[in-house]
Amino acid sequence: MATIGFIGLGNMGLPMAKNLLKAGHAVQGFDVSKAQADALAAAGGTAAGDVAGAAAGAEIVVTMLPAGQQVREVYLGAGGVLASAAPGALLIDCSTIDVATARDVSKAAEGRGHAMLDAPVSGGVGGAQAGTLTFMVGGTDAAFARAKPVFGAMGKTIVHAGGSGNGQAAKICNNMVLGISMIAVSEAFVLAEKLGLDAQRLFDIASKSSGQCWSMTSYCPVPGLVPASPANRDYQAGFTAAMMLKDLKLAQDAAAAAGATTPLGADAARIYEAYVASGEAGRDFSGVIRFVRG
Ligand code: NAD
Repeated sequence: MATIGFIGLGNMGLPMAKNLLKAGHAVQGFDVSKAQADALAAAGGTAAGDVAGAAAGAEIVVTMLPAGQQVREVYLGAGGVLASAAPGALLIDCSTIDVATARDVSKAAEGRGHAMLDAPVSGGVGGAQAGTLTFMVGGTDAAFARAKPVFGAMGKTIVHAGGSGNGQAAKICNNMVLGISMIAVSEAFVLAEKLGLDAQRLFDIASKSSGQCWSMTSYCPVPGLVPASPANRDYQAGFTAAMMLKDLKLAQDAAAAAGATTPLGADAARIYEAYVASGEAGRDFSGVIRFVRG
């Protein structure tokens, strides 16, 4: 069992760190919010006073931070992970961030003799608590093999997506499909409503036809059609509209940088931007159907 430094103990990070404790690892955690680090200590971990305290002496350092800016600060800043980690420590960033930052930070880590993986997740807070997350991993084969048992303590599906940054690339491509498909399903149900077609009838047909997709059959934005859907609890998140907007913007930035044409991704980003601006940032992203309805 390893000593693991865990930095960023928020909605996702804290339950992930707790699952590492359950698997028998020693976890020393840091968060700028002291209450979060104290919650880890209450679960059997150690609360570190700063980034350096969490990284010091750890064989593996995991980060789960809001965005690229915090990832740069935590890894590259004075007293950051690169300055404090033990020689040869494996570094794993599970935050969802831009591909360029992931590749930059990984390169800097390699320059200091550390292997680094980008390993964003899908599965949300429920998946983090249950230890059933999907990890999309970018980095070398050797680093991936070393990290696999650690991912196994926090998740169920672990996919090596290729070299550095490819985990982030997989995450934003997947979430671009999700954002677009949630709007498509919403538009279809709103159109059906206006045409006098009952939502249950459309669901019974489309869920067995070529329009079938996850946004319809696992997370339907219309209340009452799918048991676990946030639509059944007034679109309480789940995965917030603000987070969907973040991921769609990351996809647009990546598309612009790579010269890819993604007009539906751009439309989805605009629609979620307007939905978030209407005061619904904290609502589940499937609540966009109410915005589509007008
Ligand atoms: P969160 O805001 O709940 O947690 C982030 C934590 O990082 C907070 O506790 C914050 O205090 C801490 N933090 C910020 N700056 C820090 C710093 N410099 N040093 C130490 N700690 C710092 O967010 P979350 O929901 O846990 O999401 C974390 C990441 O996971 C994000 O990149 C998000 O996009 C991604 N993600 C979230 C979900 C979800 O459903 N919540 C799903 C998949 C991916």
